[in-house]
Amino acid sequence: MSNQQAWLSMMAFIRQHYQQAEGLIPLHAPCFDEAEKRLVVDCIDSTFVSSVGQYVTEFEQQITDFTGAKHAVAVVNGTMGLHLALKVIGLQANDLVITQSLTFVATPNAIKMHQADPVFVDVERETLGLCPESLNHFLTEQTIQQNGECVHRQTDRVIRACVPMHTLGFPARIDAILEICNRHNIALVEDAAESLGSFYQGQHTGRFGQVGVFSFNGNKVITTGGGGMLITNNAELARHAKHLSTTAKVPHAWLFEHDEPAYNLRMPNINAALGVAQMQKLPAFLTEKRALAQAYQQQSGLVVLNEPTNTQSNYWLNALLCESEAERNAFLEFSNRQHIQTRPLWTPMHQLAIYVDCLRTDMTNTDWLAARVVNVPSGVRCDG
Ligand SMILES: *Cc1c(COP(=O)(O)O)cnc(C)c1O
Repeated sequence: MSNQQAWLSMMAFIRQHYQQAEGLIPLHAPCFDEAEKRLVVDCIDSTFVSSVGQYVTEFEQQITDFTGAKHAVAVVNGTMGLHLALKVIGLQANDLVITQSLTFVATPNAIKMHQADPVFVDVERETLGLCPESLNHFLTEQTIQQNGECVHRQTDRVIRACVPMHTLGFPARIDAILEICNRHNIALVEDAAESLGSFYQGQHTGRFGQVGVFSFNGNKVITTGGGGMLITNNAELARHAKHLSTTAKVPHAWLFEHDEPAYNLRMPNINAALGVAQMQKLPAFLTEKRALAQAYQQQSGLVVLNEPTNTQSNYWLNALLCESEAERNAFLEFSNRQHIQTRPLWTPMHQLAIYVDCLRTDMTNTDWLAARVVNVPSGVRCDG
């Protein structure tokens, strides 16, 4: 079968799946019904729409129940969640933080906001996540241990943390990454923004590092409009994150005492109300997304990425692997012209002018994947 024929039948499959003969089929749209409306209206009726209210606590409880993490702290969005996670693990100005170049710009931005700099390590083709071998090679060749810290020899800067990302919901090889980080005294913070509902060897993503961070932006697996969440098993990290997210106010019935310079990153109750309703649907969303992924994989003549062995992906966004950048561009043209929304991966961070001067390893797999992967419509069907 020629590419054109395979693509045509894929477009037909997508229109049939979403039962939409014409008009735009988005990459990923949220799905709401009466349940969300009821809780949001309840929130408005109660007047507790802002930073105080029961839905925040309830949503945090649902996330700990679902992931198995001991603690959860709701915040305004995933980007600031990453920023806060890096703050509580002790990131300081002038530190270095290892991450992948194949990520959304929020990951390095959260590092930069601390006046620290990202170091980009290559990813694996199978998982799209940070490559443990590249990480190990970089740390072994370029760092030494000094007073229990990992120091980059050439720049004399401390490598404080490593932030792998579970790309498109496919879990990275997080146990191997954790082992390497432990050996080099580097904190592990997981960018799990895309991976709510994804498991590595039966354990939820975000639970391997000191802190994991989810996003509930409008295009993610579940949404609160805007929102994010930290998870951790460390009670002190959780307490500090919550404290810093709420202006570090010392609890008192009426006095305004604050014991360190801090932020206002609290998730408003009205957003959490959406989250509570969405969490009840998460298992059904995951089942439907898995079935769609299987259907995509059965399309003949196309290579569609599958979950790595020993993992369970949430299949946030399904991904087609093209043979070349030229073919990728042709597919993007072809599908978008038919109002079927498809998108390439992000331009790798080491290619952006703002991050081009950062330290990095060889980027063979990052460049290879960035030139070939296209995301295709993956949202759940919804008549709202
Ligand atoms: C969505 C996303 C974020 C940021 O989340 P927001 O809630 O949009 O701020 C961070 N990292 C990755 C990889 C993401 O996909």
